[in-house]
Formats: sequence, structure tokens, C-alpha cells
Amino acid sequence: MIRVLDTFRAPRHGRGVTEQPSTSAVERRNLADADLTQAVEASFENTPDPRLREVMQSLVRHLHAFASEVELTEEEWFAAIDFLTRTGHITDLEAFVPGEEPVVPADDGGPVEEPVTMMDYNASITYTLPVTPNAQRAEQANEQGRFLGLKCPECGRTYTGGRGYCPVDSIALGPGDEVDLPQRGTITNYTIITPVQYPGQTETEPFARVHVWLDDADVVLGYQPLLDTANDDVRIGMRVSAVWASDAELKDLASNAEGRLLGWMPTGEPDVTDPDLVDRIL
Ligand SMILES: [Zn+2]
Repeated sequence: MIRVLDTFRAPRHGRGVTEQPSTSAVERRNLADADLTQAVEASFENTPDPRLREVMQSLVRHLHAFASEVELTEEEWFAAIDFLTRTGHITDLEAFVPGEEPVVPADDGGPVEEPVTMMDYNASITYTLPVTPNAQRAEQANEQGRFLGLKCPECGRTYTGGRGYCPVDSIALGPGDEVDLPQRGTITNYTIITPVQYPGQTETEPFARVHVWLDDADVVLGYQPLLDTANDDVRIGMRVSAVWASDAELKDLASNAEGRLLGWMPTGEPDVTDPDLVDRIL
């Protein structure tokens, strides 16, 4: 017996749902009723296949126990069966198409006066991220207005960030491998971001984030702020240099700013015209 209840919206407030007022006699019928269960179980007495009879009668008894435990209403039962049925049967769904008329719940308050720009939700994520000695020294250098890199003595590649290893040669890189990185570079790629509003978001207009390939190094710094540049003027090949906050500016920086680096400013030098620049993201 399968029925579809398209209008199932009964709110669930913990246990005791069967005692809530309902709109029809069908909904009020108690599925945990012992007589009803025995009647259903007995309906399988004449099942010719003994194995099928055993399975179905056991199923009825277990369902009876389940219905008793959660005080299941008939409406809830049909909703669950409908869900399971549709889960197993939908094999030919191609697409959803818009209906001709909107379906508005009776308790809908109508359009809001002001457009919704922000929605609150509760979420919590706990990260545990060990800070390596290399990362601590890089941060200290950042506080002094410097970029610290690690130059591998084997392959000569230079890295910034990471855990202090050359992934090519599998060797640890320490203080003896540290080098100061150039403070000029070339934009290899960029994106214009339309800010989503959330608590703490300070941006309200679309802004650019650029990837900067530092001069004479294998280092591309990703998603960097670009200063004093209209979004239409951002381009691959643009030459930029780092701008650091003064002590006075440091106090005014947002608490979520990453260190003392304010961002990158165009130098005015001619653009670099290298068609492979766009491929350098990392
Ligand atoms: Zn190496």
C-alpha cells in the first residue's frame, strides 16, 4: 500500500506527535495500535510461500515496535514510505522546469521592504594547524617588511610558505637556506571578486586579487591585493611592487589583515609581454 502525500508539512515537536490536533481521522489513527498490528500480521497467514510469510510477519512486528517507540502517525508513515519509494524509483528524471504559478505557503509574509543583503547562520569550524619554525621566521620577516624565501641547495628552487621542505629533493630547508625575496614582480593572473556580504566583510565593491611572480625567483604570491588601480586597468604583465604599512597604518589595519603587507602598487614600468605568464599561478 503506497500513498503519496504531497502536502506533508506536519511540524515535529519531539515526542507525542500523535496527540497533536490533526485535520483528518486518518491522521489520528494510531499505527502502534496492537489490534491493528495483529490484523496486518494475520493478513499474511495465507501467504503460500512460508519464507515470504515469515519475513512479512516479522517485518510487521518490527515495524510495530518502531512505530510504538517514536509514536508514529499515519501521515508520517506515508511520508516516509513515499520518500523511500521515490528514492528507489526515480530513474528517468531529466530536469526540473518552472511551474506556471508560484506556490506560496499560507503563512508567507510577502515581499520584504528591503532587499536581503545578509543572512545569519550558526557555524563553527575548529582548525588545528601547527606553526612551523620556518613559518614563524617568515612571519617575523613580514613584520619587518621583508619576504623570506627558502632556497634549496640541491635544485636551486626558491620557496615561500609551506612546511620547510623541497618537495622535489625531499630535503628539509632551515635557517641556513633562507634568502630575502625581491619586492617587485609581474602580475601573471588575476580575478575580479564581487564581495559577498558576511559579518566582518569590509569590501562592498568588486575588487581585484592578483598573482605576483617575484623577480628572479620561482615564487608566485597568490591572491594579493592590488592598490589604487581601477578594475578595468588590471592586466596580465603589469609590473608591481610591494607596499608595507607604516607603524601608524598598522594600527588601523583590519584584524584579519595578513601581516604588514598592504598590497601591490603598479610601478609604471612597461608591461611584460610573455604569453606564458598566464600559466604561472603558483
Ligand atoms: Zn630542491
